[in-house]
Amino acid sequence: MTAAIIDGKAAAAALRQRIGARVGELAKQGVTPGLAVVLVGENPASQVYVRSKAKQTVEAGMRSFEHKLPADTSEQDLLALVGRLNADEAVDGILVQLPLPAQINAELVLEAIDPRKDVDGFHPVNAGRLASGAPSLVPCTPLGCLMLLRDLKGDLAGLEAVVIGRSNIVGKPMAALLTAESCTVTIAHSKTRDLPAVCRRADILVAAVGRPGMVTGDWVKPGAIVLDVGINRVSAPELGEGKTRIVGDVDFASCAAVAGAITPVPGGVGPMTIACLLANTLTAACMRRGLPKPVL
Ligand code: NAD
Repeated sequence: MTAAIIDGKAAAAALRQRIGARVGELAKQGVTPGLAVVLVGENPASQVYVRSKAKQTVEAGMRSFEHKLPADTSEQDLLALVGRLNADEAVDGILVQLPLPAQINAELVLEAIDPRKDVDGFHPVNAGRLASGAPSLVPCTPLGCLMLLRDLKGDLAGLEAVVIGRSNIVGKPMAALLTAESCTVTIAHSKTRDLPAVCRRADILVAAVGRPGMVTGDWVKPGAIVLDVGINRVSAPELGEGKTRIVGDVDFASCAAVAGAITPVPGGVGPMTIACLLANTLTAACMRRGLPKPVL
């Protein structure tokens, strides 16, 4: 079997278009959703992410507020900014770009964000709501994965899903979303015994580990859907001396020979993550004003 390649770029573009259309309708009611992104320090990867988030926010017709703070910003000053953004009526979503410098307790800062504006979905109130099946703002990467799965398969009820990785950012919320879709969900992690055998049970296999090419074709059930969340920079001497490239947690060639559908890296799950940030900003803007949650 040769897997269908899931085009995350196209899916993200289509999602951004639906978001743009809904933002256009809101504008007629005098509402323009706003996203505030806070960057502390000069981490180059974070700078790229923040620039891309701001650009896509504006392209979707929303307002973007960028707050760039020096690397030596104190925890108190950052908390004060979060407090001002919580109170700002023009701000519907607040994203504090991680990682934060060592002098700042990231957990404290994330918990200071008003859960109604928590477009990253990392606040314990939103994590708890997701776990209990209540409406919530859901972390962007697993939300993007779910949208790809729904596009591909429609109803997911009864399918066996295996999520490798149990982080609060990807693995746990992914498992909660799949449970809510009535999948039978296994969360695998670094202590799981016979991981290949566990993975071979999966109709849906999500890899969110951070280990380049860990999942190989012999771990995949024929016809399964494989979503590769991993983003790993590896050296690529074939591209020239000192060059690097990005690969996933899945060995694409061997898995694509067995799976029914598979996401590439790059161009799979990644593009959906920022699109889902825009979706969450729109959702937050609607929910805060008592408007129905947009169906995207
Ligand atoms: P994390 O380090 O917080 O969690 C990794 C998880 O993998 C842990 O739960 C750990 O138990 C598990 N693990 C580690 N080694 C393992 C092994 N040998 N076997 C089985 N499980 C093992 O990472 P994270 O934040 O969840 O991110 C995971 C990957 O996804 C990273 O490569 C990250 O860069 C990427 N990521 C991508 C996006 C995106 O937009 N595509 C977003 C977030 C994270």
